[in-house]
Amino acid sequence: MPTRVELGAGKVREVGRLASRYGRRALLVTGRTASKSLAERFNVRELLEDAGVEVVPFHEVEENPSDKTVDRWAELARREGCDIVVALGGGSPLDAGKAIALAATNGPPVARFVRTWTRPEERPEREALPIIAIPTTAGTGSEVTPYAVLTVDVGKRPLISHHIYPRVAIVDPELTYTMPPNLTAATGMDALSHAIEAYIAKRSNPLSRMFSVEAGRIILRELPRAVKAPDPSSRAAMAYASMLAGVAIAQAGTAVVHGLSYVLTTDFGIHHGMALALLLPPTLKVLSDRCGDRILGFARCVGVDAGSAEEFAEFLGDFVRSLVGERRLRDWGVTEERVKYMVEVSQGSRGNIENTPGGFSPSDAERVYRELL
Ligand code: NAP
Ligand code: ZN
Repeated sequence: MPTRVELGAGKVREVGRLASRYGRRALLVTGRTASKSLAERFNVRELLEDAGVEVVPFHEVEENPSDKTVDRWAELARREGCDIVVALGGGSPLDAGKAIALAATNGPPVARFVRTWTRPEERPEREALPIIAIPTTAGTGSEVTPYAVLTVDVGKRPLISHHIYPRVAIVDPELTYTMPPNLTAATGMDALSHAIEAYIAKRSNPLSRMFSVEAGRIILRELPRAVKAPDPSSRAAMAYASMLAGVAIAQAGTAVVHGLSYVLTTDFGIHHGMALALLLPPTLKVLSDRCGDRILGFARCVGVDAGSAEEFAEFLGDFVRSLVGERRLRDWGVTEERVKYMVEVSQGSRGNIENTPGGFSPSDAERVYRELL
């Protein structure tokens, strides 16, 4: 695992010491609201400066960051002579920070490194600036992955490069305490989806499955408490499990559930984790005829007493409803007329489909979306 993980409550206070090993002038990347305030509340700028690291602040990352944002700030990082990126926030600021670190050394446009499947991607030649990643949600695992998901002209697509593995992940659960129940549930379901998708993925291996199972076991036990009555121990467990599920996808990748989710985020504004929470049960049901044994294997390893993959999918449906209530795609304005378009867009996530045992046809995708209308 190329990323050193610093895990535990209070660890963010070590950011200065950790960053000063890699650079002297940091671009400090956060989102616009919660993560910006968290950086202030936890004195991240002062901690860096006290350790001799100058700070260039960038508090403007939007949700589901675009390649344009990355390009603009990569230019700035170059102009300002930044030699390290410290990214603090949910997956959006972390992914933006990682992509900025790569574009700062290789030069924009960053979109040329993104796997779109519509044009050949370039391989970055230069190392990225060193990255310190500090998650404030417990879900994406971006702090330990070689991925940055960017919104480009054809939708949400991954930039995949070993250069963007963060040097250090500071996983401090105290930064997640301010998450409201819905965000806790959605991000937690992102992590569960990572664990399950990586487990069933074609590229899975015994090591990734070990991370998947440990993450899944913890999430199924701790997420309900983190959503309904959060305490330091459930928050710590979710921060840890999310990181473990990140290691699983770093090894094995995600599969079709992620592929189906992106259009729900880009076109209907459904949060990444919420989209996965909705999609996971019906997608696993469709997959049960081609990789039911793997799905059931995961269920048994995480201690769910299911007799079949379909039963596990039903169990997950109940689990999701207990966290977010009964939600339908129509709550976000998705209508039957849009299904054809959604199916078409989802087919563009070729990497996710190819990593799914037995593949996933347009009619499979249609079945899933229709079930959720
Ligand atoms: P996010 O998009 O980073 O943030 C969602 C919202 O939550 C923002 O308004 C954010 O505020 C707020 N927020 C963040 N931390 C908070 C806290 N502690 N308390 C209260 N509010 C908080 O959400 P996310 O689910 O963490 O990340 C989703 C993104 O990650 C998507 O783009 C997804 O594709 C990507 N992703 C990447 C990977 C990977 O391996 N790279 C894996 C999975 C998902 P701000 O305004 O401060 O941002
Ligand atoms: Zn995800």
